[in-house]
Order: sequence, then C-alpha cells, then structure tokens
Amino acid sequence: MHCPFCSADDTKVIDSRLVAEGSQVRRRRECLSCHDRFTSYETAELLMPRIIKQDGTREPFDESKLRSGFLRALEKRPVSTESIEAAINQVKHNLQATGEREIKALIVGEKVMEQLQQLDEVAYVRFASVYRRFQDLNEFRREIDRLEQQPDSKTEV
Ligand SMILES: [Zn+2]
Repeated sequence: MHCPFCSADDTKVIDSRLVAEGSQVRRRRECLSCHDRFTSYETAELLMPRIIKQDGTREPFDESKLRSGFLRALEKRPVSTESIEAAINQVKHNLQATGEREIKALIVGEKVMEQLQQLDEVAYVRFASVYRRFQDLNEFRREIDRLEQQPDSKTEV
C-alpha cells in the first residue's frame, strides 16, 4: 500500500487486528521512506451484479432503490423493519448467489415478489400490480379488498 503522505511504495504493517466483530481488519502501517504512520481498514466486499434495465442500459445495483420498493409496497402494513431488512438481505444474497455480473431488472423484481409474498399478501399484490401492470384496475382493487378483509392473514403473528 502506498504511503498517503509521501506516496512511497513501501509501507510495513506494524500492527494488525480484527475489529467490528471480526468483519474488518485494522492495520497500523508505517512508511519505510518518511516513517509516518497511518491506519488502513480491510473489509470483504460482496459485489452486486449490475442491473440491465428494460431498454438495455446498465446501472449499478442500488440498495436504496430496492429498499424504497419494499417500503412503498409495505406502506401502512403490519410488517416490522427487521423483517423488511431481512427480506432485502435475502434478495441481495439471491442476486449474489447467481454469480452473474449483470442481471436483468426483471429478475430482481421476481426476487422482490418472492419475498413480499412471504411477508405480506397485500404488499405483494401492490407490488405485482405496478410491476406486472394489471390490465383491469377494478379487478386489482377487488383483490386488495378481499385480502384486507381476511381476518387472519398469514402475516399477522
Ligand atoms: Zn511516506
């Protein structure tokens, strides 16, 4: 690693320890040239595939977009933040597990729907309606009403 002070090539590690509950390595380094000391942190990076949009353009995976998709679908629904975060992590994990460097936005949508279906049926229908563009809006409303009137939906624990 280059020295941030004098840009010399050679720095030596004088101390190395695990931090952040073992998910990070903190290294204390000393420059062999100017002898200044600095700290570096090393974290494992799980690369997310890039997203191929419907028009064929590519964009970096954006977790905040994924999260706002979930939150929009789950607005005013009885689902905890913890469950939502777990679902987001599951989607990310599924995308990483494909091993692909690029993935169609369509596939991401399918993964989100899988998670929403388990979390909350109303949210699932909301998301699916936007995503799949229901032909008949009235039919969609009836489906929502039906789900909301169910006394013991599987999402209530
Ligand atoms: Zn230096």
